[in-house]
Amino acid sequence: MNYSQQLTIIKSLIPNTDVDTRMDCPFCHNTNTLTIKKNNADLMWYCFHASCSAKGNHQDEVTMQQVYETVVAKRKEKEKPFVLPSSFISIHSEPKCVEYLKKNNCIKAKEKEKVSFMYDVKQHRIVFLIKEKEKLRGAIGRGLNSNVYPKWYIYGDKSYPFICGNKDKAILVEDCASACAVSHLYSGVALMGTSLPDSFIPVIRKKYKEVIVALDRDATTKSFDISNKLRYYIPTKVKMLQDDLKYFNEQQIESILQ
Ligand SMILES: [Zn+2]
Repeated sequence: MNYSQQLTIIKSLIPNTDVDTRMDCPFCHNTNTLTIKKNNADLMWYCFHASCSAKGNHQDEVTMQQVYETVVAKRKEKEKPFVLPSSFISIHSEPKCVEYLKKNNCIKAKEKEKVSFMYDVKQHRIVFLIKEKEKLRGAIGRGLNSNVYPKWYIYGDKSYPFICGNKDKAILVEDCASACAVSHLYSGVALMGTSLPDSFIPVIRKKYKEVIVALDRDATTKSFDISNKLRYYIPTKVKMLQDDLKYFNEQQIESILQ
């Protein structure tokens, strides 16, 4: 059944309010395999049955209120470009920076990918710069010893992810160092935690053809929550890890992710 036929049927199944529901699939007739989510103007559906290809997403025309909110939000975003704090200096001024990059398998990414690191002398952090193409969007710093709290700190705009690598398959990992460690195989996207901020979804959707969610075994439920959010748009797999990918070298990561 094609997209618009599916859409017509899906619309007939739900009320005109926001929904997040699961039901028997009208396309493959399996029990409780179809999820439907409607949130404002966004309608998404997905059937979990292996034999069924029912899935899609649809955006209704937006209301004036939504247009206004988007325009205002965009303008605000433009008003505040990220300016490098004056406390950011070269990583070569603090030996612990290079030590950190080596220990966490980021050195190769530094050499091969367009990724920039700095040292925040004020907060004693190694800083991963967040860029969208060439534009600076923000920065994320990791404390260089255990007295620095919190361990990770996000400077400025939190709406755009730190990404390392230029592949068309993305892997969602917990932090920036792991994103760098996997960049020979995938584009590493740092979640900075174990959940997916809504603002990352359009970025991931636009840039990638496939996604792997690779989090710690302890975060299994959250991994599936993330993949449930993304699979409406992109083929998404979950990979459970014994340990963070930043602790492994390129060859080890290849065998873990196989
Ligand atoms: Zn189905």
